[in-house]
Amino acid sequence: MALKHSELRQAVIDGANLLIRTGAISMSHHGNFSVRVPGTDTILLTATSSFDNLQPENLALLDLDGKLIEGEINPTNAEIVHMHAIVYKQLPETGAVVHTHSTYATSFALASRALGCSYEALVRNDMSAGVPLAKYGPRGSAESVSNIADALSATKNTKAVLLENHGVLAFGANPAAAARANLIVEEAAQIAIFAEVLGGAKNIPPELLQASVGRRDEFARAGTQRA
Ligand SMILES: [Zn+2]
Repeated sequence: MALKHSELRQAVIDGANLLIRTGAISMSHHGNFSVRVPGTDTILLTATSSFDNLQPENLALLDLDGKLIEGEINPTNAEIVHMHAIVYKQLPETGAVVHTHSTYATSFALASRALGCSYEALVRNDMSAGVPLAKYGPRGSAESVSNIADALSATKNTKAVLLENHGVLAFGANPAAAARANLIVEEAAQIAIFAEVLGGAKNIPPELLQASVGRRDEFARAGTQRA
């Protein structure tokens, strides 16, 4: 059964709260989060610039061209509609998109560095290509959106893009998966920065990436083991 709008709104709030609870967010708690209304080209998007005290009525309904259908959206968030829309357009299986300035991932973006796949949790969360970098363009501009599209086309097997000089954009099948992608990218970035002190993170050899995914899938298929 298709989820009702109220359930989708709550799923976004739960995803945003996960990021606040885990600290995968910048100090200001700035971010925006959207969910696709299943089977449509419309999205519910948070219309406020912070994840603090998000309420169901804080999400507006828009189409993927950015047209507001229901609710209201503040000017700061109207700027970023296309940054979300490009992911749904380019990767139709996407059910939710989240954008934050989570500190460690954003550090990579400010250093103009993609995040390599040195941390196994990236592989297990469908990011064996690591996280590519989309070149800078002013927030939400046609240039920035086209740079995101380029990064997504050039990189299969990822669930996030670093936005140069800005932050991180993560996505997944639903709000929980998108929030988890942002969380795992943040965790990977934090650990990679610590690893710099020890000589730098080493990427997983490409030939072993598929083996890691295969092992995850094999155990998942076997299901829970009980004595
Ligand atoms: Zn931002």
